[in-house]
Amino acid sequence: MLRHHVCQLQTLSPQRPKPLTSSLFTQGVFNTQRDEQPSADAAESRKKLTPNSQTAFSRADREGVGFTSQRARDQLCEQLRDSGIRSEQVLQVIASTPRHLFVDQALWPHAYQNRTLPIGHGQTISQPWVVARMTELLLAKKKPQKVLEVGTGCGYQTAVLSALVPELHSAERIAELQERAKSVLNRLGIAHPQFSLSDGCWGLDVQAPFDGILVTAAPVEVPEALLDQLAVGGRLVIPAGPDGRQRLQVFDRVAENDFEQQYLDDVAFVPLKSGVIAG
Ligand code: SAH
Repeated sequence: MLRHHVCQLQTLSPQRPKPLTSSLFTQGVFNTQRDEQPSADAAESRKKLTPNSQTAFSRADREGVGFTSQRARDQLCEQLRDSGIRSEQVLQVIASTPRHLFVDQALWPHAYQNRTLPIGHGQTISQPWVVARMTELLLAKKKPQKVLEVGTGCGYQTAVLSALVPELHSAERIAELQERAKSVLNRLGIAHPQFSLSDGCWGLDVQAPFDGILVTAAPVEVPEALLDQLAVGGRLVIPAGPDGRQRLQVFDRVAENDFEQQYLDDVAFVPLKSGVIAG
């Protein structure tokens, strides 16, 4: 039980939507504007990145070829647009983020398909549609200045967020995944996210409050700490529910003890687990 007052705004039918359809947009529940101005930043800032490591990815690595080419990224974005993603700003970032570099080279032919892929330790990189959807939900109300991501995984969602928010903290419970993600982000010149090896069920108390929290693994019940660490006016985007019946949920903290909750798309995430696995 949540001890805060949670007002449920919208409960959509519990049937599973078609994989690439946003029930929410078709029902006009959530308003992200199609005519939003893509900020100069997104794609541009990506181009200007200056990887600071000696092992920086080459331009050829980043741009890719064939299955990993810009054409493949653009086609993925078209598919995402067709399936309800409205934020051009988010789509621009997805078009300029080399998802293939976050997964094993053997999986590169699948990197720009709308599917999850294994990243080791029984974890998966989220589907691009889910990344886009959660990101646009996080940004839909007002641009959050300080964001916590729970579940760094391979770092792809971290890379997308890092182009869109000024202060980003990312918590991961498996040291080896976190190290790998840090290395890829560093080689891409994405230096500003701050990483924490910790159990994100407890949020990140030392940095709270956050005006955005995005969780990329699913608890059965929404952790109280995450609601506590949301600033008034802030938004939490989280998949939650028992395996096979998870829903994407959005919580807006409208006052110190008041939250508005929306149940959105049916989703399938790996579980949010407790404890830390050190390297
Ligand atoms: N956004 C990531 C998703 C990875 S899968 C990506 O695209 O790669 C979910 C991640 O959440 C896994 O890396 C898993 O280890 C991590 N995770 C699960 N429970 C967690 C917890 N309590 N705290 C922090 N990370 C957690």
